[in-house]
Amino acid sequence: MTRNTSGDNLISFLNRSPSPYHAAETASYHLLEGGAQQLDESSPAWSSLKPGGSAFIVRGGGSIAAVRIPTGFSAERPLPFHIAVAHTDSPCLRLKARPAESTHGYRQWGVEVYGGALFNSWLDRDLGIAGRVHRVGSSPGTAKLIRMEDHPIRIPQLAIHLERTVNEQGLILNPQKHLVPITGQSSGPSLESLLENAAGAPFTELAFDLCLYDRTPACYGGTCDEFIYSGRLDNQAMCHAALAAFVDAPAGDAIQVMVLFDHEEIGSVSAQGAESNLLVTFLERIALSLGLTREAWLSLLPRSFIVSADMAHGIHPNYPDRHEPDHFPQLNKGVVLKSNAGLRYASDGFSSARFLGWARRAGVETQRFINRTDLGCGTTVGPGLSAQLGIPTVDAGTPMLSMHSAREMCGAGDHGQMISVLKAFYLGG
Ligand code: ZN
Repeated sequence: MTRNTSGDNLISFLNRSPSPYHAAETASYHLLEGGAQQLDESSPAWSSLKPGGSAFIVRGGGSIAAVRIPTGFSAERPLPFHIAVAHTDSPCLRLKARPAESTHGYRQWGVEVYGGALFNSWLDRDLGIAGRVHRVGSSPGTAKLIRMEDHPIRIPQLAIHLERTVNEQGLILNPQKHLVPITGQSSGPSLESLLENAAGAPFTELAFDLCLYDRTPACYGGTCDEFIYSGRLDNQAMCHAALAAFVDAPAGDAIQVMVLFDHEEIGSVSAQGAESNLLVTFLERIALSLGLTREAWLSLLPRSFIVSADMAHGIHPNYPDRHEPDHFPQLNKGVVLKSNAGLRYASDGFSSARFLGWARRAGVETQRFINRTDLGCGTTVGPGLSAQLGIPTVDAGTPMLSMHSAREMCGAGDHGQMISVLKAFYLGG
């Protein structure tokens, strides 16, 4: 549990992916490099998709779905789908459509809160801006990715002298009033002009989806580099694990599928979120391209399997009472299998047993997470996908601390373990 190749690769993935759109772009880059072809969802037929081939689609800029068909695939004895899913988005602050009114000599730009962000973690950081811009009247597929970090912006915390009770009573932040970043002084150039330069068009010609991100690069930490510190570990770490397993897995007895969804942190209800038809239409179109009837496709679903990969709560040594005393994951102790009797996680006895089998085959250490019975449980894309498709599903991931902070941490040793179990899963059986 120190520096290692999968940790190095994760760090480089994180540093290339300051927004969900960049994460999808980084994944596309690696898929193309691995020989996959990009397909267009609006094209009437995916006739190029053949046994032995690999392909992917991007939907809405932030979601990506990939497939690899084993060479020996035949419509007479079709193989099930083995599907690993994760999400590209992370809680963050997003720029509103227009800058705020300049006051007291400062230029400012209001933000909306995306997902369940920990507000305090965004204070006193050097923030970059990343996402995608569209030109007014432009056609689909012409969005431009931008990343602006040369002129960091900042949300300064109020000095303790002006709020003497903050350490005793806690920091209360009103997102409308207290999270408005300062972008510069009124006398300097406006952020609009910098955006225009980055986008290559006048501000009035632009519509955009732009996230703030912490410019501090991802890095190793701890006395023997046993940790990784970064923004967006939830859930770009699992995006990277699914991608690395998909790209490296040898062909086996399954149709290998990887889907990285946008919009999990805001409930997954969008054209490209996990509650959309993305996965169901992707699978059906693969089946049709391979010459399967609709009936044959439907009969594959109960034989298929989904691993919903999302980060898990490691136990925090300063708050051990927040965990169930017999089911608390620890960093660098292996992959976490998550379950909940209310099915906030999709795992049940059957899917857990199958997942533990792949972990054993891969020689991967596992640990269990069940929330305290007196605390509400988080959720993932697993239960919704399982319900839509009728495919057995397990929720798993690696443990972390500071979930939903602008700067999170996880164990450097767990990441390679997650990749190994996903590779064993992709082999089928
Ligand atoms: Zn997550």
